[in-house]
Amino acid sequence: YALQGLRGFNNSHVYMADLESALHYSLRVELAAHDIIRGDALNALKKYISVLAKYFPGRPVVVNLLKTLKAWLQDQTENKISYKAFEDVLDNRVPHTALPEGVRWVGCQGSQPHFRRYPCGVWTLFHVLSVQANSTGGSDPVEVLSAMRSYIHHFFGCRACAEHFENMAQEGLEQVGTLPSAVLWLWFRHNQVNNRISGDLSEDPFFPKIQWPSPETCPACHTVNEKREHKWSKDEVLSFLLSHYSSSNILTGNPA
Ligand code: FAD
Repeated sequence: YALQGLRGFNNSHVYMADLESALHYSLRVELAAHDIIRGDALNALKKYISVLAKYFPGRPVVVNLLKTLKAWLQDQTENKISYKAFEDVLDNRVPHTALPEGVRWVGCQGSQPHFRRYPCGVWTLFHVLSVQANSTGGSDPVEVLSAMRSYIHHFFGCRACAEHFENMAQEGLEQVGTLPSAVLWLWFRHNQVNNRISGDLSEDPFFPKIQWPSPETCPACHTVNEKREHKWSKDEVLSFLLSHYSSSNILTGNPA
């Protein structure tokens, strides 16, 4: 495999560049495939922008833009919007609001352009949002998960992924009763996806799918039972996730 200049990065951190790149791709590319957004899809977009405006732990200019989008969506009285009108708000350059103009993948870069990137950014974004909801004491334990579910269902470009995720969501997403269990639900489901697609052609050979976090990354997360079978220590996994995806573990600026 010809490595296309993998930048050095440290996988014990989360990178703001990946989160902003995921936002850029989602808002400017993925949504742009829909000329008109109406009905349930419009509600999905409103929920998505609303959790972003509430929990995205970003730079003030980015958070301001998300809040502007949220307010604009709330003001729409018709049951449909055109993407063009939404894009105008994105482009409108209200002072102190901005998204980066393109993507720059760091923790989500792949060894080839068709690996990783946006889908990796989407997972990272929603893990971060679920942890932010927990640490800021969100009131609804499924707010972030259900926004993710409907965004993926209506807009995620990988339609097979969306279908798989919807099947998972039907198995218990709405029954999640606390903010920490929402963080764990997403972790557990992400590992199920890793397991299902490990070894597929879509796997970047430089970033093999594993049951995450590895024993090297979080030794305390892994235990064995009396039968010497592997068991996750859920408490340790939770504290690992709360720290890994916390805003203080997000690096801004260029990686070394
Ligand atoms: P990703 O799986 O994208 O993970 C990104 C980063 O998250 C990892 O590098 C790691 O740091 C961290 N991470 C890994 N596992 C966990 C975990 N359990 N909990 C918390 N953090 C973790 N592809 C398919 O081929 N088939 C599918 O059905 C499919 N469904 C998808 C559904 C959704 C909702 C999404 C967002 C993506 C889906 N994909 C699917 C894409 C696939 O899951 C990967 O995103 C893609 O292959 C890129 O993989 P990656 O190596 O960058 O790691």
